[in-house]
Amino acid sequence: MHEASIMQSVFEIALGKLEGSGYERVDSISLRIGRATGVVSDALKFAFEALKPGTPFYGAALVIDEVPVGGVCLSCGEDFSTDERFVFQCPACAGSRLDITRGRELDLTGMEVS
Ligand SMILES: [Zn+2]
Repeated sequence: MHEASIMQSVFEIALGKLEGSGYERVDSISLRIGRATGVVSDALKFAFEALKPGTPFYGAALVIDEVPVGGVCLSCGEDFSTDERFVFQCPACAGSRLDITRGRELDLTGMEVS
């Protein structure tokens, strides 16, 4: 994944929200990142630090909420979570008909301004 371009998009979205809000500075940005996206939190933080000088984000903190991959097995109904980034088999019955419901998030979930 290209964390720098993801961060650029986050900045653009956040700037759009800041515009016309009457506030000038962003104090923190919260992101929810699913592990299945392959996005590396450390790389995102690095991109954030590199991009923020000279912007309304210069003093902002980046808060990342990582979401483990998880879902429901369509064979046995097991609701599972895993530390792996990808899952091909149900951990309970080894079935392969899975409905992955968590881990694909890539959301701007919050923003503090002043
Ligand atoms: Zn199963």
